[in-house]
Amino acid sequence: MAEKKFNGKLWVIATPIGNLGDFPPRAVEVLRESDSVYCEDTRVSGKLLKHYGIEKPLKVLNARREERTIGNVIEELKQGRAISLLCDAGTPAISDPGVRLVNECLKYGFEVSGVPGPNAAVYALSIAGIATDSFVFEGFLPQKKGRTKKLNELCNEKRTVVFYESVYRIPKLLTELENICPGRFVAVGRELTKKFEEIVRGYPAELKEYFSGSKQKGEFVIILAPLNWKT
Ligand code: SAM
Repeated sequence: MAEKKFNGKLWVIATPIGNLGDFPPRAVEVLRESDSVYCEDTRVSGKLLKHYGIEKPLKVLNARREERTIGNVIEELKQGRAISLLCDAGTPAISDPGVRLVNECLKYGFEVSGVPGPNAAVYALSIAGIATDSFVFEGFLPQKKGRTKKLNELCNEKRTVVFYESVYRIPKLLTELENICPGRFVAVGRELTKKFEEIVRGYPAELKEYFSGSKQKGEFVIILAPLNWKT
């Protein structure tokens, strides 16, 4: 166990996934009290802070810079500062930067806490009407190497599977699912918490047909129902 030598503290703060209203009062309070705020993109987090009337200079910690920036955060924590970590959307460290920073902070013995909130995968599961007693979260699938192998594995997984897919690969993914597991029931969450939010459920061929044309746009969460799921 790391011995506590400093009183700096890291706050991991979940952010809205589309609706700026999904940001609890405690998150606002913690940000106001923070000495430094690190985020992925200062334009995205700047908009959130402005919405809540919070004025703080923003520093960048993104996937490319996480390793380099950790040292700066640790130095600030050693000075006893309160640091907040934000990501562009949802919960930091979940398919977003933060894991290595949190690990380092805990190794140094700094206190780590947070303000829980939106997460696209969990929110999609909560409105998909598909078994959630046990599920597998896969983050993003490989884009090229290992993709087919991974998809085959997931299509053989008995439990509910949830993962993220980029808007650019939705037609390709639905074609892949149609080929690999045409009988697997699937739910697609699109533009969650936003104006055009939808959860569409069906078999891969039906979803491929539905998500052609303008419905291809936006952000997506994919849920594979458990094998042999009956609606
Ligand atoms: N940290 C985030 C979380 O807690 O959900 C995940 C960030 S990951 C880099 C971004 C992916 O999450 C998107 O490509 C999409 O698959 C999913 N996502 C984020 N916001 C979404 C939304 N409003 N609707 C649907 N999917 C969303």
